[in-house]
Amino acid sequence: MLYFRTEVDILKKYAIPYKGLSTGKHRFEFEVDDRFFEAFENSEIKRGRARVEVELDRGSALLTLEVEIDGEVTVECDRCLEDCTLPVHYRGELVVRFSETQEEYDGEVMWLSPAETEVNLAQYIYESICLSLPYQRVHPTDENGRPTCNPEMLARFRIVTPEEFGRIEQEAAEHGAPNPEFEKLKALKDQME
Ligand SMILES: [Zn+2]
Repeated sequence: MLYFRTEVDILKKYAIPYKGLSTGKHRFEFEVDDRFFEAFENSEIKRGRARVEVELDRGSALLTLEVEIDGEVTVECDRCLEDCTLPVHYRGELVVRFSETQEEYDGEVMWLSPAETEVNLAQYIYESICLSLPYQRVHPTDENGRPTCNPEMLARFRIVTPEEFGRIEQEAAEHGAPNPEFEKLKALKDQME
């Protein structure tokens, strides 16, 4: 179920060795930083830092983890494509169950082999941070309700006329593979209509 690059040692420290823990509650803390996000391929998060607090409750047959994440991350603004820093606040519960057979991780219940000795939270933390971000990632608006986007960047997008857009669309169709710049442009166009 862990589909990040396992050779990335940086993610190993986000593991809790639960085997030696007594039943009951235990607290853990982790810090995520730029290197954490770099370890995930194709991460839309460019940089970031956050504090992760975990309260692990060890039961007789399962582990319940209350996870709280607070921090901020830098992503590309959907509107002007410049870097945009957004706050991260997440609270969630993860249940770890044990089974000999490989069960699918659904974001709420993680299945581990009974032979396992630790639970690695890197993937869960990463996904939770992504989930905590708003659907539209844009620079916040100022007190007058105007976006604090880079005006130069915005001006550059606005000069795209319907003719120019049609040409870009045509080129993209001819080249087959979706062009990320084009996709952004298309999203912007849809937004302005
Ligand atoms: Zn922006």
